[in-house]
Amino acid sequence: MTAQLLDGKQLAQDLRRQLRVARQALGSRPVRLVSVEVGQNPAADVYVRNQLRAAGEVGIEMEVSNLPLGTDEAQLVRAIEVLNERPEVAGVIVQRPLPPGIDPRVVQSAIAPHKDVEGMHPANMGAILYREPLLPPCTAAAAQHLIVSTGIDLRGAETVVVGHSEIVGKPIAVLLLHHLSTVTVCHVGTRRLIDHTRRADILVVAVGKAGLVHGDMVKPGAIVVDVGINQGADGRIVGDVHFASTVEVAGFLTPVPGGVGPVTVAMLLRNTLRAAGATV
Ligand code: NAP
Repeated sequence: MTAQLLDGKQLAQDLRRQLRVARQALGSRPVRLVSVEVGQNPAADVYVRNQLRAAGEVGIEMEVSNLPLGTDEAQLVRAIEVLNERPEVAGVIVQRPLPPGIDPRVVQSAIAPHKDVEGMHPANMGAILYREPLLPPCTAAAAQHLIVSTGIDLRGAETVVVGHSEIVGKPIAVLLLHHLSTVTVCHVGTRRLIDHTRRADILVVAVGKAGLVHGDMVKPGAIVVDVGINQGADGRIVGDVHFASTVEVAGFLTPVPGGVGPVTVAMLLRNTLRAAGATV
């Protein structure tokens, strides 16, 4: 079998088209997304550039706030509190990684929940347990969207999520549970990963280890969503899933790059429009 590629770029473009319509429906009032970064990080800069381009396409104004290296946690929280008070600011995103000494949880919790367009404030994370969160975590929402786009009935499907981080693995598991799939979450304590991955109809890998999952660990015909972003030996970006061996086995596979990433950015913009009051 040769897997059908789940084209995240195309899906994201379709989403942005819908988002543009939702943006227009809001009329002339400003919809502003503010990105806050401490210091300068080349990886974050790539994300910011992608976000700027996508926001412009949808009609969302994006403001980039670069705080100097040396900004401490209290100063960053204060900067966020100022943004919380600005009425034209619909959403706030804090770029990672943050410098040592700044606790991402403290920072995320400082963002007003209704402006937390990354969906990582404890209130929004908690709301996903209630099925219909207004602002779901973007990467989890993207993985869900990619899986649903296959048209496959998720009810009763064996779903395995590898990785249990707060911002990716856990919320993905919860969102897929809402589809009544049977969800197993694997992590560093899992005894034999292959025993779980091999029986997965839907396999989501979100670890951050290049090539962790090989084709021989995948059930023929499975939907495989590769969330990982790693620097390969030759400097190119690769996922957590070994592409060449998995594409021969899976039914659907997300490429890296061009899979989860672009859809995640589209979900960020969807959340921003929702935060501004759009129904989308
Ligand atoms: P993270 O916070 O480092 O979490 C990684 C998870 O993988 C942890 O739950 C960890 O368990 C688990 N893990 C580590 N080694 C494992 C192993 N050998 N087998 C099974 N599980 C293992 O990373 P993250 O923020 O979730 O991100 C995961 C990956 O997704 C990264 O590559 C990141 O760059 C990428 N990412 C992509 C997007 C996108 O839009 N495409 C967005 C966000 C993140 P322990 O905590 O128990 O060690």
